[in-house]
Amino acid sequence: PPPAPPAAASALARPPAKPAVFVPVNRSPEMQEERLKLPILSEEQVIMEAVAEHPVVIVCGETGSGKTTQVPQFLYEAGYSSDNSIIGVTEPRRVAAMAMSQRVAKEMNLSPRVVSYQIRYEGNVTEETRIKFMTDGVLLKEIQKDFLLLKYKVVVIDEAHERSVYTDILIGLLSRIVCLREKRHLPLKLLIMSATLRVEDFTQNQRLFAQPPPVIKVESRQFPVTVHFNKRTPLEDYSGECFRKVCKIHRVLPAGGILVFLTGQAEVHALCRRLRRAFPVARPRPPEKDAQKDSVEETRRFKKSQARARKAKATTLPQISLDNYSVLPAGGGDEDREVDEESLGSDLDLDLGDDGTDGGERPDASLPLRVLPLYSLLAPEKQAQVFQPPPEGTRLCVVATNVAETSLTIPGIKYVVDCGKVKKRYYDRVTGVSSFRITWVSQASADQRAGRAGRTEPGHCYRLYSSAVFGDFEKFPPPEITQRPVEDLTLQMKALNIEKVINFPFPTPPSVEALIAAEELLIALGALQAPPKTERVKQLQRSRWSCPITELGRTMATFPVAPRYAKMLALSRQHDCLPYAITIVAAMTVRELFEELDRPAASDEELARLKGKRARVAQMKRIWAGRGASLKLGDLMVLLGAVGACEYAGCSPQFCEANGLRYRAMMEIRRLRGQLTTAVNAMCPEAGLFVDPKMQPPSESQVTYLRQIVTAGLGDHLARRVQSEDLLDDKWKNAYKTPLLDDPVFIHPSSVLFRELPEFVVYQEIVETTKMYMKGVSTVEVQWIPVLLPSYCQFDKPLEEPPPAYCPEKGRVLCHRASVFCRVGWPLPAVQV
Ligand code: ADP
Ligand code: MG
Repeated sequence: PPPAPPAAASALARPPAKPAVFVPVNRSPEMQEERLKLPILSEEQVIMEAVAEHPVVIVCGETGSGKTTQVPQFLYEAGYSSDNSIIGVTEPRRVAAMAMSQRVAKEMNLSPRVVSYQIRYEGNVTEETRIKFMTDGVLLKEIQKDFLLLKYKVVVIDEAHERSVYTDILIGLLSRIVCLREKRHLPLKLLIMSATLRVEDFTQNQRLFAQPPPVIKVESRQFPVTVHFNKRTPLEDYSGECFRKVCKIHRVLPAGGILVFLTGQAEVHALCRRLRRAFPVARPRPPEKDAQKDSVEETRRFKKSQARARKAKATTLPQISLDNYSVLPAGGGDEDREVDEESLGSDLDLDLGDDGTDGGERPDASLPLRVLPLYSLLAPEKQAQVFQPPPEGTRLCVVATNVAETSLTIPGIKYVVDCGKVKKRYYDRVTGVSSFRITWVSQASADQRAGRAGRTEPGHCYRLYSSAVFGDFEKFPPPEITQRPVEDLTLQMKALNIEKVINFPFPTPPSVEALIAAEELLIALGALQAPPKTERVKQLQRSRWSCPITELGRTMATFPVAPRYAKMLALSRQHDCLPYAITIVAAMTVRELFEELDRPAASDEELARLKGKRARVAQMKRIWAGRGASLKLGDLMVLLGAVGACEYAGCSPQFCEANGLRYRAMMEIRRLRGQLTTAVNAMCPEAGLFVDPKMQPPSESQVTYLRQIVTAGLGDHLARRVQSEDLLDDKWKNAYKTPLLDDPVFIHPSSVLFRELPEFVVYQEIVETTKMYMKGVSTVEVQWIPVLLPSYCQFDKPLEEPPPAYCPEKGRVLCHRASVFCRVGWPLPAVQV
């Protein structure tokens, strides 16, 4: 039995927490031989001794040195999964969690029941699981259920250099959990694994670790990589430039795999198509399937739903079915950045299409090229293909997004073609509105990409930009946490009873302004208790006041969506609105449900097609929005109608295509609806009554309730049309004013409320193109504002009672005040009761 360490024992004097047994692993001789080539194998002894002696250890090594695949095996063999405990490994990307669990199971000759993975939507964890790969969001949810993580003896945080928000928070939390477990004499080991980038943020941070943890560096066996810069930087057509480069390499240069870095899934597929046409592989391949159907799972679901739709033909009302969702394991709330990337960024993808303008390239079957795509949402079995050697006589060419930068190492790569770009999410500091933009990578990322060419022999990296441009790149990508609003993570941390988020040991803290803004929003949403009035006002004081979470806040924290949307869900148990609210929230979370039809057309033919489709989509939107009460719900009614109609039509790619809907987004909405429904049912089992899998269109009064629910959630996105007397000049014609922006904002032309111009609206987001446009617009009745959004109003008399409730049964607002001023800036008309 491990002796209890005396309380004052120093780290060095502490008796090593001795793992009990050596657990033998029965590897195949070939596998063992392959392992022995990895640089990390020679460090096993050092790493395991450090782990035994220190609560926290950092392992640093070049990508491909064997950290992810080998360290979990070291720990397993050293007995860290004995007594039914689990070795937990977190990855910021889903791809890595799945692929690595499969790889490690294979290397160890163990079943996936023992070496398993868990990501948001799926997993294969069993009672027997001893090594568990998961996304960082999954572990964060587990901490909410069991703060001490008692089922783990060791937690490995992999890819810490990526600095994803959840990785950062996990490291902060685990630094505390490790201490708590030590006090209980149930030590938990923490291993942080990182590429050789800026470990100082972890080691030199006194708040994080009082004693800097030991850093074990794994020597890499990297071969030299010659970097070739372009003379000039192509500004637009980097995909085309990639194509030409690959053609050249393949025709002229000696054997060796090619790895191309592009920014998104659509680009990857377009380039794959072009390359396959240019260098066909003799063996007839099945026709390239639509990117949308990549997932076998989705195809299966799609077929099922078609069958159901046929059965359902007898009924006349549009109905959707929720009954074919896989039941999600409790608490999988990870927000995978890449999902958003895939579902959001389509309009940014430079789709080269099948226009045949391949620079006059003729198919050349004498030089077969094995072209494989690689991106985060690719079906796992397709991902696995990149690890297999290409057929005899062909050269491997992997076209990847930045998943291939550090998380996955592809064997046999000698040439890297780097477009130098990455798709990144940007947030406007003022409005918090986000968008995806394609930008230059950092120098560190570019070097990582280049390094992929030197794994097995000296290699070459072709950068499609000039050295001057490279000199202007940022050194490192900034940690994600400093780049985005933090209201969701603030809420998650409050739910963990971390009241003073500002004192949390972040590896790199977010700005105080961002934390204050988050707390203000959460107070306004009712998720946090407002500070007492006497102490009120000054913002800086507020940052020192720790606002505890409310019951509503706890409910909101269980939903894996942004707090504004979580508020809507929390409210929508009333009047059977839940299925509708879930659908609206899912659609808003996935965003960009409709195809981008405003893109420039390449030909007259395409222009005509786009025009026709625009007209069709506009018509469908009007139908989905309906009239009267339902039109007032505006674009959110369109979302509801579109999802309902699409489900009724069997959710087929054809239906989506015909109506300008993005099939992938629709599938994502489906999954999220299933997940949110599960979350609701898990929270209040009786809510099963409220979630009717057959969703009829909402009644007129339900639509009104939904409008109120939406108003309550999006309250800080309130806008008021500028009245004629306020018209100073033409630029304010048909414009709206919001509390945050000085400039006029407008309803987006794609909105069904574009011509309606209601006086008060709430919007989902503002996008800036030629003007500032509000998207996802819904109308608000003026008398709701003081009732539903009291924290955004200034009352002429101080509030003496809690905010009154809207009382729909009586058809009126119970409100005691004579008039209110909302922060939009103009006095509102008196509200009579
Ligand atoms: P690190 O985590 O340090 O970047 P990994 O443990 O991911 O390194 O990879 C170690 C080695 O294992 C690499 O050479 C890689 O090519 C190989 N490898 C990883 N996954 C697979 C797989 N599924 N099939 C074949 N080789 C793999
Ligand atoms: Mg790794």
